[in-house]
Amino acid sequence: MASTRPVPFARTVIGPEARSAVDRVLESGWVTTGQEAIEFERELADYVGASRGVAVSSCTAGLELALRALGLPRDARVLMSTDTFCGAAGAIAHAGLTPVLVDVDPRTAVPTEENIRAAVREVGGVSAMVVVHLGGHPVDVEAAAAAAGLGLDHVIEDAAHALGTEVGARRVGSISRATCFSFYATKNLAIGEGGMVTTSDEDFADTLVRTRLHGMSRDAWRRYRPGAGWRYDVADDGLKANLTDVQAAIGRAQLRRFGADQARREAIAARYDAQLAGLPSITLPPRPVEGRHAWHLYAVRVQPGFPVPRDELIELLSARGIGTSVHFIPLHRLTWHVEHCVVPATGLPGADEVFEGTVSLPFDQNLTDDDVDEVCAALWQIGGIR
Ligand SMILES: *Cc1c(COP(=O)(O)O)cnc(C)c1O
Repeated sequence: MASTRPVPFARTVIGPEARSAVDRVLESGWVTTGQEAIEFERELADYVGASRGVAVSSCTAGLELALRALGLPRDARVLMSTDTFCGAAGAIAHAGLTPVLVDVDPRTAVPTEENIRAAVREVGGVSAMVVVHLGGHPVDVEAAAAAAGLGLDHVIEDAAHALGTEVGARRVGSISRATCFSFYATKNLAIGEGGMVTTSDEDFADTLVRTRLHGMSRDAWRRYRPGAGWRYDVADDGLKANLTDVQAAIGRAQLRRFGADQARREAIAARYDAQLAGLPSITLPPRPVEGRHAWHLYAVRVQPGFPVPRDELIELLSARGIGTSVHFIPLHRLTWHVEHCVVPATGLPGADEVFEGTVSLPFDQNLTDDDVDEVCAALWQIGGIR
């Protein structure tokens, strides 16, 4: 049997540059949001081609802040895919709005324009939409907005998987009103926890800067500087969702190696593609027709003809020390979401079909070629061929 050593689903590597940057911050006497966060905001905004970045405690908090900043009436409807992480629907509801779930194309796991038009017709219109670049695969944001009858100023992107994704020739982060990134432990740029909202709308960015910190007109960093005044006002309803300088220092170091990490992710995806090509009843992740995939996930689809169903495949891989995950349990199968989201009467059959067979293979930039080969050998063996 090929199994030699465990291959975990994903590992977080915080390198030596990040560690010395953290030391520098810890010794500086200022550890919460300050100069490091400001630098990280500027560098990430530059990377994606937006004019502003607003560092926040998580992508989920960023989504909630961005949705609140749209200033929509209470209970206004916000369209989102049912096939994504649960947090985005919670953010919509916590912003006082109503999530409307839309089905996906079973081949791509992303809503088609027809899916979007059908969902909008059924509820009689939506006020905004959250677009997710699932797994890092680019979604045509403009086409999705048009299908929903919305301008791009009423679209917020959940780009938790999409730092490095390009839609056509454009990096995700500069397309819609606001784009929310995650630096959670398993994401392509990992800090552990953290997020960033990028936007090219200055007023919108200023609102986010206040509302990420209780709605205060000036944060502590600015009030405590020599010569600065101590007064502030609170004119907005805010959250406590700022990013610390300790986290920002890690993020800046990770951003410096991000290009190399992404190149390695592309090479790993290509190796999986080459080794798994021809394995019967396993469908490989689709390649974008144009643009660039950020390869956050490498999810294959177990078709009904495969010798074992998806759940058994996960157990067999796990017995060989190979970690996997499932992205995602569709939201219309989660208790809270059924109670708080609008779910079409016809159900969401495309997402159900995806959920039946999808499994995400081990994937991070630190996988070795041997790791990939071991996973592929196990799949061929279970597939009954070799
Ligand atoms: C991880 C993830 C989030 C949440 O990110 P946090 O930074 O943990 O809040 C949101 N959406 C998707 C698609 C995710 O995978």
